[in-house]
Order: sequence, then C-alpha cells, then structure tokens
Amino acid sequence: MAYSLPDLPYDYNALEPHIDEATMRVHHDKHHQTYIDKVNAALEGTQWADAPIEDVLKDLGSLPSDKQTAVRNNGGGHYNHTLLWQWMSPDAGGQPDGALAQAIESAFGSFDDFKTKFKDTGANQFGSGWSVLVHTGSGLDVVGCPNQDSPISNGQTPLLGVDVWEHAYYLKYQNRRPDYIEAFFNVINWRKVAELFDAAG
Ligand code: MN
Repeated sequence: MAYSLPDLPYDYNALEPHIDEATMRVHHDKHHQTYIDKVNAALEGTQWADAPIEDVLKDLGSLPSDKQTAVRNNGGGHYNHTLLWQWMSPDAGGQPDGALAQAIESAFGSFDDFKTKFKDTGANQFGSGWSVLVHTGSGLDVVGCPNQDSPISNGQTPLLGVDVWEHAYYLKYQNRRPDYIEAFFNVINWRKVAELFDAAG
C-alpha cells in the first residue's frame, strides 16, 4: 500500500492570517504530494513499500544504498509534513501546560527561553530545513535539521517542528523568516505536542 496524502485537518484558510491560504494550498497539495510520489517510486516493489514511514526512517541504513538518499529526502518530506499539518491548528497557540510545560522549563529554563532557542535555530538554519523540539530519551532539546532530515533517524522523537523551507513562508513573508516563525507560534497545536510527548516519555 503506497503512501497517500493525508487530508488537512482544517480548511486551507483556517490558519489565516498567520499562515495564508495560498501557501497552504501549494504546500499541502503540491509539495507534500510530490514527496509522496517520489518516496513511493523509490520504494515500489521493495519489502519497505508497505512499512510505516516512521519505521523506514528509523532504519535508513537497512535500505539499498541507491535508495537511501531518495527515501531520506522524500520519505522524510512525507513524514515531516504529515506531522506539520497536525502541529498547526486554528484556535491554537498560547503555551503548553502540565507535564510538557514542566519538561520545557526543566530543559530550557522557561517557555520564553525555549521559544528563543526554537526561533533562533529556525532563523539560523542555513538553506532549507526545520527547527525541531525533540525528546532525546532523557529530556527535551531543540535541533536544526537540514533538508527533510528527521530527528527520528537519529533516535530522537520529534515533538514539534517548524518548516523553514522558503516554500513554507515566501508568498506571505518573503525573506522575513523570523516573522514567519513568530507567527507560527500563534497556530501551534500544543495538544498534539503533548500527545507526542506523553507517547515518548
Ligand atoms: Mn514544506
């Protein structure tokens, strides 16, 4: 069963004004679909074609060497964007509470210190990539990932990521990547982040 594009869990315009409708349409319908088409083509006819994408990305080294780059890039793109649509939500933003809030304070000092590190990591990611809050197994950290690399390939669990590829923000924010990341905080679905945190802990 080849991978298929998940529906957005909200309307294309639901994240306005922070994330614009035109960006959501091309990002979801075109960019994500292309990652899926390419990873499906790479894995077609192999024993990995029916595996959950998480499992494939956790063990990239087991793939034939001529498949690894295509799967790392396009399988990673499929996995990252499947999470991204869930990491955002209308009527979201604010701050987490409970055990997740405590873990963030423990790791970074305060929510604001976490936000600064997450924003700076995204703003300073050279070229395309992601800034990702991860569970390392012992606590939380923020890591910068180039291209479509996922921390899951390094044994870490992604809890929240912001896409800093230009396709994620250029229509509305042009070169103002820090403004886009600031706006992203208004649509963070902390309920989903908490769910991933609870599952990882
Ligand atoms: Mn993207």
